Amino acid sequence: MNEKLAELKRRLLEIDDLNAATAVLNWDQTTYMPPGGAAARGRQLATLSQLAHEKFIDPEVGRLLEELRPYAESLPYDSDDASLIRVTQRQYDKSTKVPSALLGAFYEHSAAAYQAWTAARPANDFTAVQPYLEKTLDFSRQVANCFPGYDHIADPLIDFSDEGMKAETVRALFAELRAQLVPIVQAIVDQPVADNSCLLQTYPEADQLAFGQKVIRAYGFDFQRGRQDKTHHPFMTKFALGDIRITTRVKPNDLSEALFSTLHEAGHAMYEMGIKKDLDGTPLANGTSSGVHESQSRLWENLVGRSRPFWEHYYPELQAAFPDQLNGVSLDTFYRAINRVERSLIRTDADEVTYNLHVMIRFDLELALLEGSLAVKDLPDAWQARYQSDLGLQAPDNRDGVLQDVHWYGGFIGGAFQGYTLGNIMSAAFFDQARQAQPAVLDEMRQGEFATLHGWLKENIYQHGSKFTANELIERVTGGPLSIDPYIRYLRTKFGELYALA
Ligand code: ZN
Repeated sequence: MNEKLAELKRRLLEIDDLNAATAVLNWDQTTYMPPGGAAARGRQLATLSQLAHEKFIDPEVGRLLEELRPYAESLPYDSDDASLIRVTQRQYDKSTKVPSALLGAFYEHSAAAYQAWTAARPANDFTAVQPYLEKTLDFSRQVANCFPGYDHIADPLIDFSDEGMKAETVRALFAELRAQLVPIVQAIVDQPVADNSCLLQTYPEADQLAFGQKVIRAYGFDFQRGRQDKTHHPFMTKFALGDIRITTRVKPNDLSEALFSTLHEAGHAMYEMGIKKDLDGTPLANGTSSGVHESQSRLWENLVGRSRPFWEHYYPELQAAFPDQLNGVSLDTFYRAINRVERSLIRTDADEVTYNLHVMIRFDLELALLEGSLAVKDLPDAWQARYQSDLGLQAPDNRDGVLQDVHWYGGFIGGAFQGYTLGNIMSAAFFDQARQAQPAVLDEMRQGEFATLHGWLKENIYQHGSKFTANELIERVTGGPLSIDPYIRYLRTKFGELYALA
């Protein structure tokens, strides 16, 4: 058994090396690569991904997993070896069920669809991407149908990013959340919108970056095992547990852009930095789902970084860093500015309260497309109708409507969006547990200290990597299935105070 396990680990490590090389090339592509590198980089990435895929679907990997199953079953469920064999087996089944030719054809198509979208969005031209999107929908259905026995055709696609979640459970959670959110949004937008002009002054780039880095260092982001660089669309990536990268973008006339994207990406990074070292180089050394990952970015960005206790400590420091801009601005005004709620057209700019409504619109439209009850040609109208009914807004064009998000133009239709809202729901559920277990968390935040919170998250969530699915993890941490109650309580308390809601 030992020899077989060593052989499996050796193969997985080799695949991990190829994936890490892909990640380095990707990171470089979006940070430092000159434009002339684009064509060769696309080819290099494709070569490495294909090599990693071929090595992973090698029948020998399947044989080793098969032979190791009795050994895995003899061990405790949460042991490193049992988890490695179990999780790798599930990934192997998924990777081998989709024919390589189908996947290859889809990647080729989605590269073309992405190219078409980069031209169509500025030109406000949905008809230019419509045929691509129709093909994407067809590919998405074909891939879903590689996993017969599903309850809903979106289930296999949701499972790729949020393993174990299903359309029906997500739909039910979202319906419950929507029913609670809509009246809160309504009550808030009936009031005058908060003044955020204090954020929209000139803030020198270097000082913005320095302040963000000071905060995430205090959070526990380890600069010996990570660094931050600039990019167009902020993201986090990992080359190994000892080398985790975050990126941000700076707007010289908007303080919130770099600061909150830094806190957000640091949350993703600290999750990965907290994974147990022994799991490095294996499929377990990753966050477990897009929802759980997003719960950690949102926790550090919003539940901590947009909270009153946090700013009671950090606002004087921010004023000291930007005296000309902020010395005449009270903590109260600043706190309201960073928590301003308004109905808006763009998901990525949305506040904590309205954000989930944007996600639900996309989730419902994905399901309708996959079910066949909505045709791609009718998507722009369906989009407008939902923005009208859910947010009371009419987008002036498709650019800020159905063309705004890259997801459907660079990936599958199905499974692309639910993780954002699942993450918000989970962030409050986890934070609630942390505060119950460690009541000092809030007081420490008022002192600019985060060690107790960070320690609790490492102990209960980070160290496990992807040993447990999101549902297993939630059950272990909260003692039950995912509930929206802590999240609704959080929003009601925070925004109830801010907007004096009944
Ligand atoms: Zn994120």
